[in-house]
Amino acid sequence: MVELGEKKMRGRQIANHLYKRFENSFNSMDDLPQAFRTLLESQYRVSPLHVARHLKSRDGVEKLLVHGGDEQVFECVLLPYSDRVSCCLSTQVGCPMGCTFCATGLGGFDRNLSVGEIIGQYLLLSALSIRPISHVVFMGMGEPLLNFGNLLKAIQLLHDEVGISHRRITVSTVGIAPQIRELAKLKLPIHLALSLHSPFDDIRSRLMPVNKKWSVAEIMGEMRNYQRATGRKITIEYLLIAGVNDSKEQALELARLVQGVPSVINLIPWNWVDTGNGFARPTREQVRAFRQILESRGANVTERTERGHDIAAACGQLAGQHQGKFAKRGTPLQVTT
Ligand code: SAH
Ligand code: SF4
Repeated sequence: MVELGEKKMRGRQIANHLYKRFENSFNSMDDLPQAFRTLLESQYRVSPLHVARHLKSRDGVEKLLVHGGDEQVFECVLLPYSDRVSCCLSTQVGCPMGCTFCATGLGGFDRNLSVGEIIGQYLLLSALSIRPISHVVFMGMGEPLLNFGNLLKAIQLLHDEVGISHRRITVSTVGIAPQIRELAKLKLPIHLALSLHSPFDDIRSRLMPVNKKWSVAEIMGEMRNYQRATGRKITIEYLLIAGVNDSKEQALELARLVQGVPSVINLIPWNWVDTGNGFARPTREQVRAFRQILESRGANVTERTERGHDIAAACGQLAGQHQGKFAKRGTPLQVTT
């Protein structure tokens, strides 16, 4: 605002409209002079995002498929619970990590999202939500720590402008060691979740190529360091794929890995995606058996409550179905006439 020759307070007024009232046009910012609103409207845009699809699940979950004008779609999800409202945001279009069980990973990578595109997802979902969004999880498409600068700026906006405390922000990562160390140095009480999915290097490397770069031991070392630096409990996400990573040996080793570390293991039964690997979802009994071994060794365990099944709310599933757009990874959208 100062650069535009305006008073500083105009910046505060506009920030309030954007981040507290979720206004989607300058014209509706009624405490700005009309001439200034017209000027802003002609030169700037409030939201960088276009909604390609809006789906509502029977259980209250809402999902938006959005794009920033280039038709490369990405997803964000609103998750209302009885005691809180959470939202799940994407940080990249696609993902370069290539995890073999993940719809996003199988689709390849296009680009990082800008800060505006990350925060724009929050603003669109807030405008939809009846109750204020209290929690943000970065578990949508992409690997948040590979878009580190924009992730941090988005978190800063959520914290400073929207007023969401760091404790209510969760970053889920495949395990990028240098960035976990950087995040630890900031000493912000952000909740960090590691997608581990196997305590054995050979199996984890098959599921997640990133493990060839940073092994289980290395990445768990970084997580322990993060825990000590921030004082926050860490979460270990553990996807269960039948016959692949749900053995007794893996449960025992997983329990050993978290021993003495303030942590929670979140078990996630794998959502079916056509991977071509013959992966299958475990039965409830298999999940229960795995959980019992962990608990018998003193680990804290939760199970991910599954929401939005009827609208393909899991990571990358919907964007993957968005044929003809998302499928054109790495090349501009082909327009057929
Ligand atoms: N890239 C980050 C965050 C996005 S993925 C990460 O990998 O942690 C968010 C979570 O969804 C991860 O734990 C990931 O392993 C999990 N996930 C991916 N594909 C899934 C599927 N088909 N079913 C269930 N969870 C899945
Ligand atoms: Fe990327 Fe996460 Fe999917 Fe792996 S699980 S491909 S890191 S989005």
